[in-house]
Amino acid sequence: MSTAILSALPEEQSSLVQHLAHPQRLMHAGRAFWRGELHGHPVVLALSGIGKVAAATTATALVEHFGVARIVFTGVAGGVGEGVNVGDVVVAQDYIQHDMDASPLFPRWEVPGYARSRFACDAALSALLSGAARAYLASAGGQLGLKTTGDQVVALPAPRVHEGLVASGDRFVCAASEALHLHGTLQAAGHAVLAVEMEGAAVAQVCHDYGRPFAAVRTISDRADDTAHVDFPAFVRTVATRYAEHILLGFMQKLSN
Ligand code: SAH
Repeated sequence: MSTAILSALPEEQSSLVQHLAHPQRLMHAGRAFWRGELHGHPVVLALSGIGKVAAATTATALVEHFGVARIVFTGVAGGVGEGVNVGDVVVAQDYIQHDMDASPLFPRWEVPGYARSRFACDAALSALLSGAARAYLASAGGQLGLKTTGDQVVALPAPRVHEGLVASGDRFVCAASEALHLHGTLQAAGHAVLAVEMEGAAVAQVCHDYGRPFAAVRTISDRADDTAHVDFPAFVRTVATRYAEHILLGFMQKLSN
């Protein structure tokens, strides 16, 4: 059975499409899907769209229409945890919807009907993603740790791989005060969030419903602060696309079935 690789942004998907053997483009639910093989494994590549509803629709189509066995997400996110910096990688252990609030009927962040606020990722798939991310950062470490400004080469801290909780919601978080508030209120309730994005929790919930393993890797594109929108486009074009390509190819190489 196929593995679905879901990307949030077209730039990330296009680098993977170039590696597809026997590529076949199909339209479904107004979306383009690519079927083919990566490292001999059948895959379906899809764009999630932006936000929770678009991502849930795409994930549902992947399960119902394409019959995929598992879904892996690759994208970018804003770092909100301490020490989660631009250029780092976060592999999600579980997901929470930071904008879910049916209180006082249900506890804050609990998804009504599920008796839980967090949806876990598959441990085995996540371990493969972490391994692939570590291997890529180690191999590219020398280049990633240097930045050229004018004729000066500046050393940057080496990028790191983090594993933990990621929060999704239908907001591009781009104010330091908002990022601080979001992180602080969740932390006070025992939810130590590393990063914020707009799709993963929705896909995690769909995978929970269908009993499909799910894992996600996010490259940190910004710190969800007042300059988040400035850093974002150039980072996606240059750094994040390369990360997605190398980490996902490394992951597919290690996948056993
Ligand atoms: N520039 C894009 C829009 C990107 S929206 C376009 O024009 O199409 C931001 C995307 O990056 C979402 O997919 C989201 O999951 C992720 N993301 C990165 N940083 C984020 C942040 N600070 N807050 C929320 N989502 C963020």
